[in-house]
Amino acid sequence: MKFTHPFTLLCFIGLFLLGTSCENETVTNTTGEPNTNITPDTQEVAEYAMVIHGGAGTLRRADMTAEKDSMYRSALDSALTIGEQVLQSGGSAADAVEQTINYLENVPLFNAGKGAVFTAAGQHELDASFMDGATLNAGAVGGVTNVKHPITAARAVMENSEHVFLSGPGAEEFALEQGLETVPNSYFFTQHRYDALQEAQSAEAEAESERTSMLSPPFPDHKFGTVGCVALDKEGNIVAGTSTGGMTNKKYGRIGDSPIIGAGTYANNATCGVSCTGHGEFFIRYAVAYDVHAHMAYGKKTLANATEAVVMEKLVDAGGSGGLIALDKYGNIAMTYNTEGMYRGYVKPGERVVGIYKDE
Ligand code: ASP
Repeated sequence: MKFTHPFTLLCFIGLFLLGTSCENETVTNTTGEPNTNITPDTQEVAEYAMVIHGGAGTLRRADMTAEKDSMYRSALDSALTIGEQVLQSGGSAADAVEQTINYLENVPLFNAGKGAVFTAAGQHELDASFMDGATLNAGAVGGVTNVKHPITAARAVMENSEHVFLSGPGAEEFALEQGLETVPNSYFFTQHRYDALQEAQSAEAEAESERTSMLSPPFPDHKFGTVGCVALDKEGNIVAGTSTGGMTNKKYGRIGDSPIIGAGTYANNATCGVSCTGHGEFFIRYAVAYDVHAHMAYGKKTLANATEAVVMEKLVDAGGSGGLIALDKYGNIAMTYNTEGMYRGYVKPGERVVGIYKDE
């Protein structure tokens, strides 16, 4: 284009400046490419951030004693302290996620590691997954029966194998080769999970005798209890992990969403990290964790709008109960659930929140 007159040139420059000032501010992702797809809740980057869940579908308020309430809250708070110490001292999001989940796997209150739910056969089969948002590397284990910390096994699959998802005896053999701690299956026993199995099995027998559809969970007030963690470290890396015993009374080697990358767990430094909890079959069908990312990457949604669209619209319409935790690359936090409550918490410099029910 030739500018034959100085006035034409001035008009052109003026229009150009006007045009660019109307555009959204360009955001640069960690690989240095401009990323205009995301309109963040806030563009102020938190030095670090971490968000956790201990399962959606909490105890009903009526069944929650003051003692139980404080046990849950203090476990969530201790989990946040473990992860925050790693992040504060410049540790990686991967270490923060693994150590936080290791702690939650040891707490019998939650459905992961010790305290995992029972299968129909009276066993424990554990699932976990781990994803690194910087590289999109991921690892997962499904249906393991003797690995004390499935999240550590999932991370080992990601870091020390050429595979993403190992299951059953093969996953156990790999864990052994990796020198990971194994325990007898009875280690995972807790009385309250055993009682829940009895309850589920009598509800199932009743439903069968009445020929009621078993497409819905065996009992309506299903308590999930899976654990998950997503962290953003000082380097700007996002890592997500999820660990679970699955759903009470599961059969035939059933594996839920938790170890499935894109369903129960997802992380991408350009958008967000996500860990889900809820009725896994729905989370698999709706690729929930990836869908949050997709809403942000392609739909130009904020983290809050993306999680709202997936959990409160799509899942609610489908009848899928549960929730998720997520954070974006700025450290914005979402803890979204369509159940009565979700054990949850997050931490950022100078900020810490722990919650169970909706109105808090
Ligand atoms: N999503 C898990 C599953 O379906 C259950 C849970 O979140 O507790 O296996």
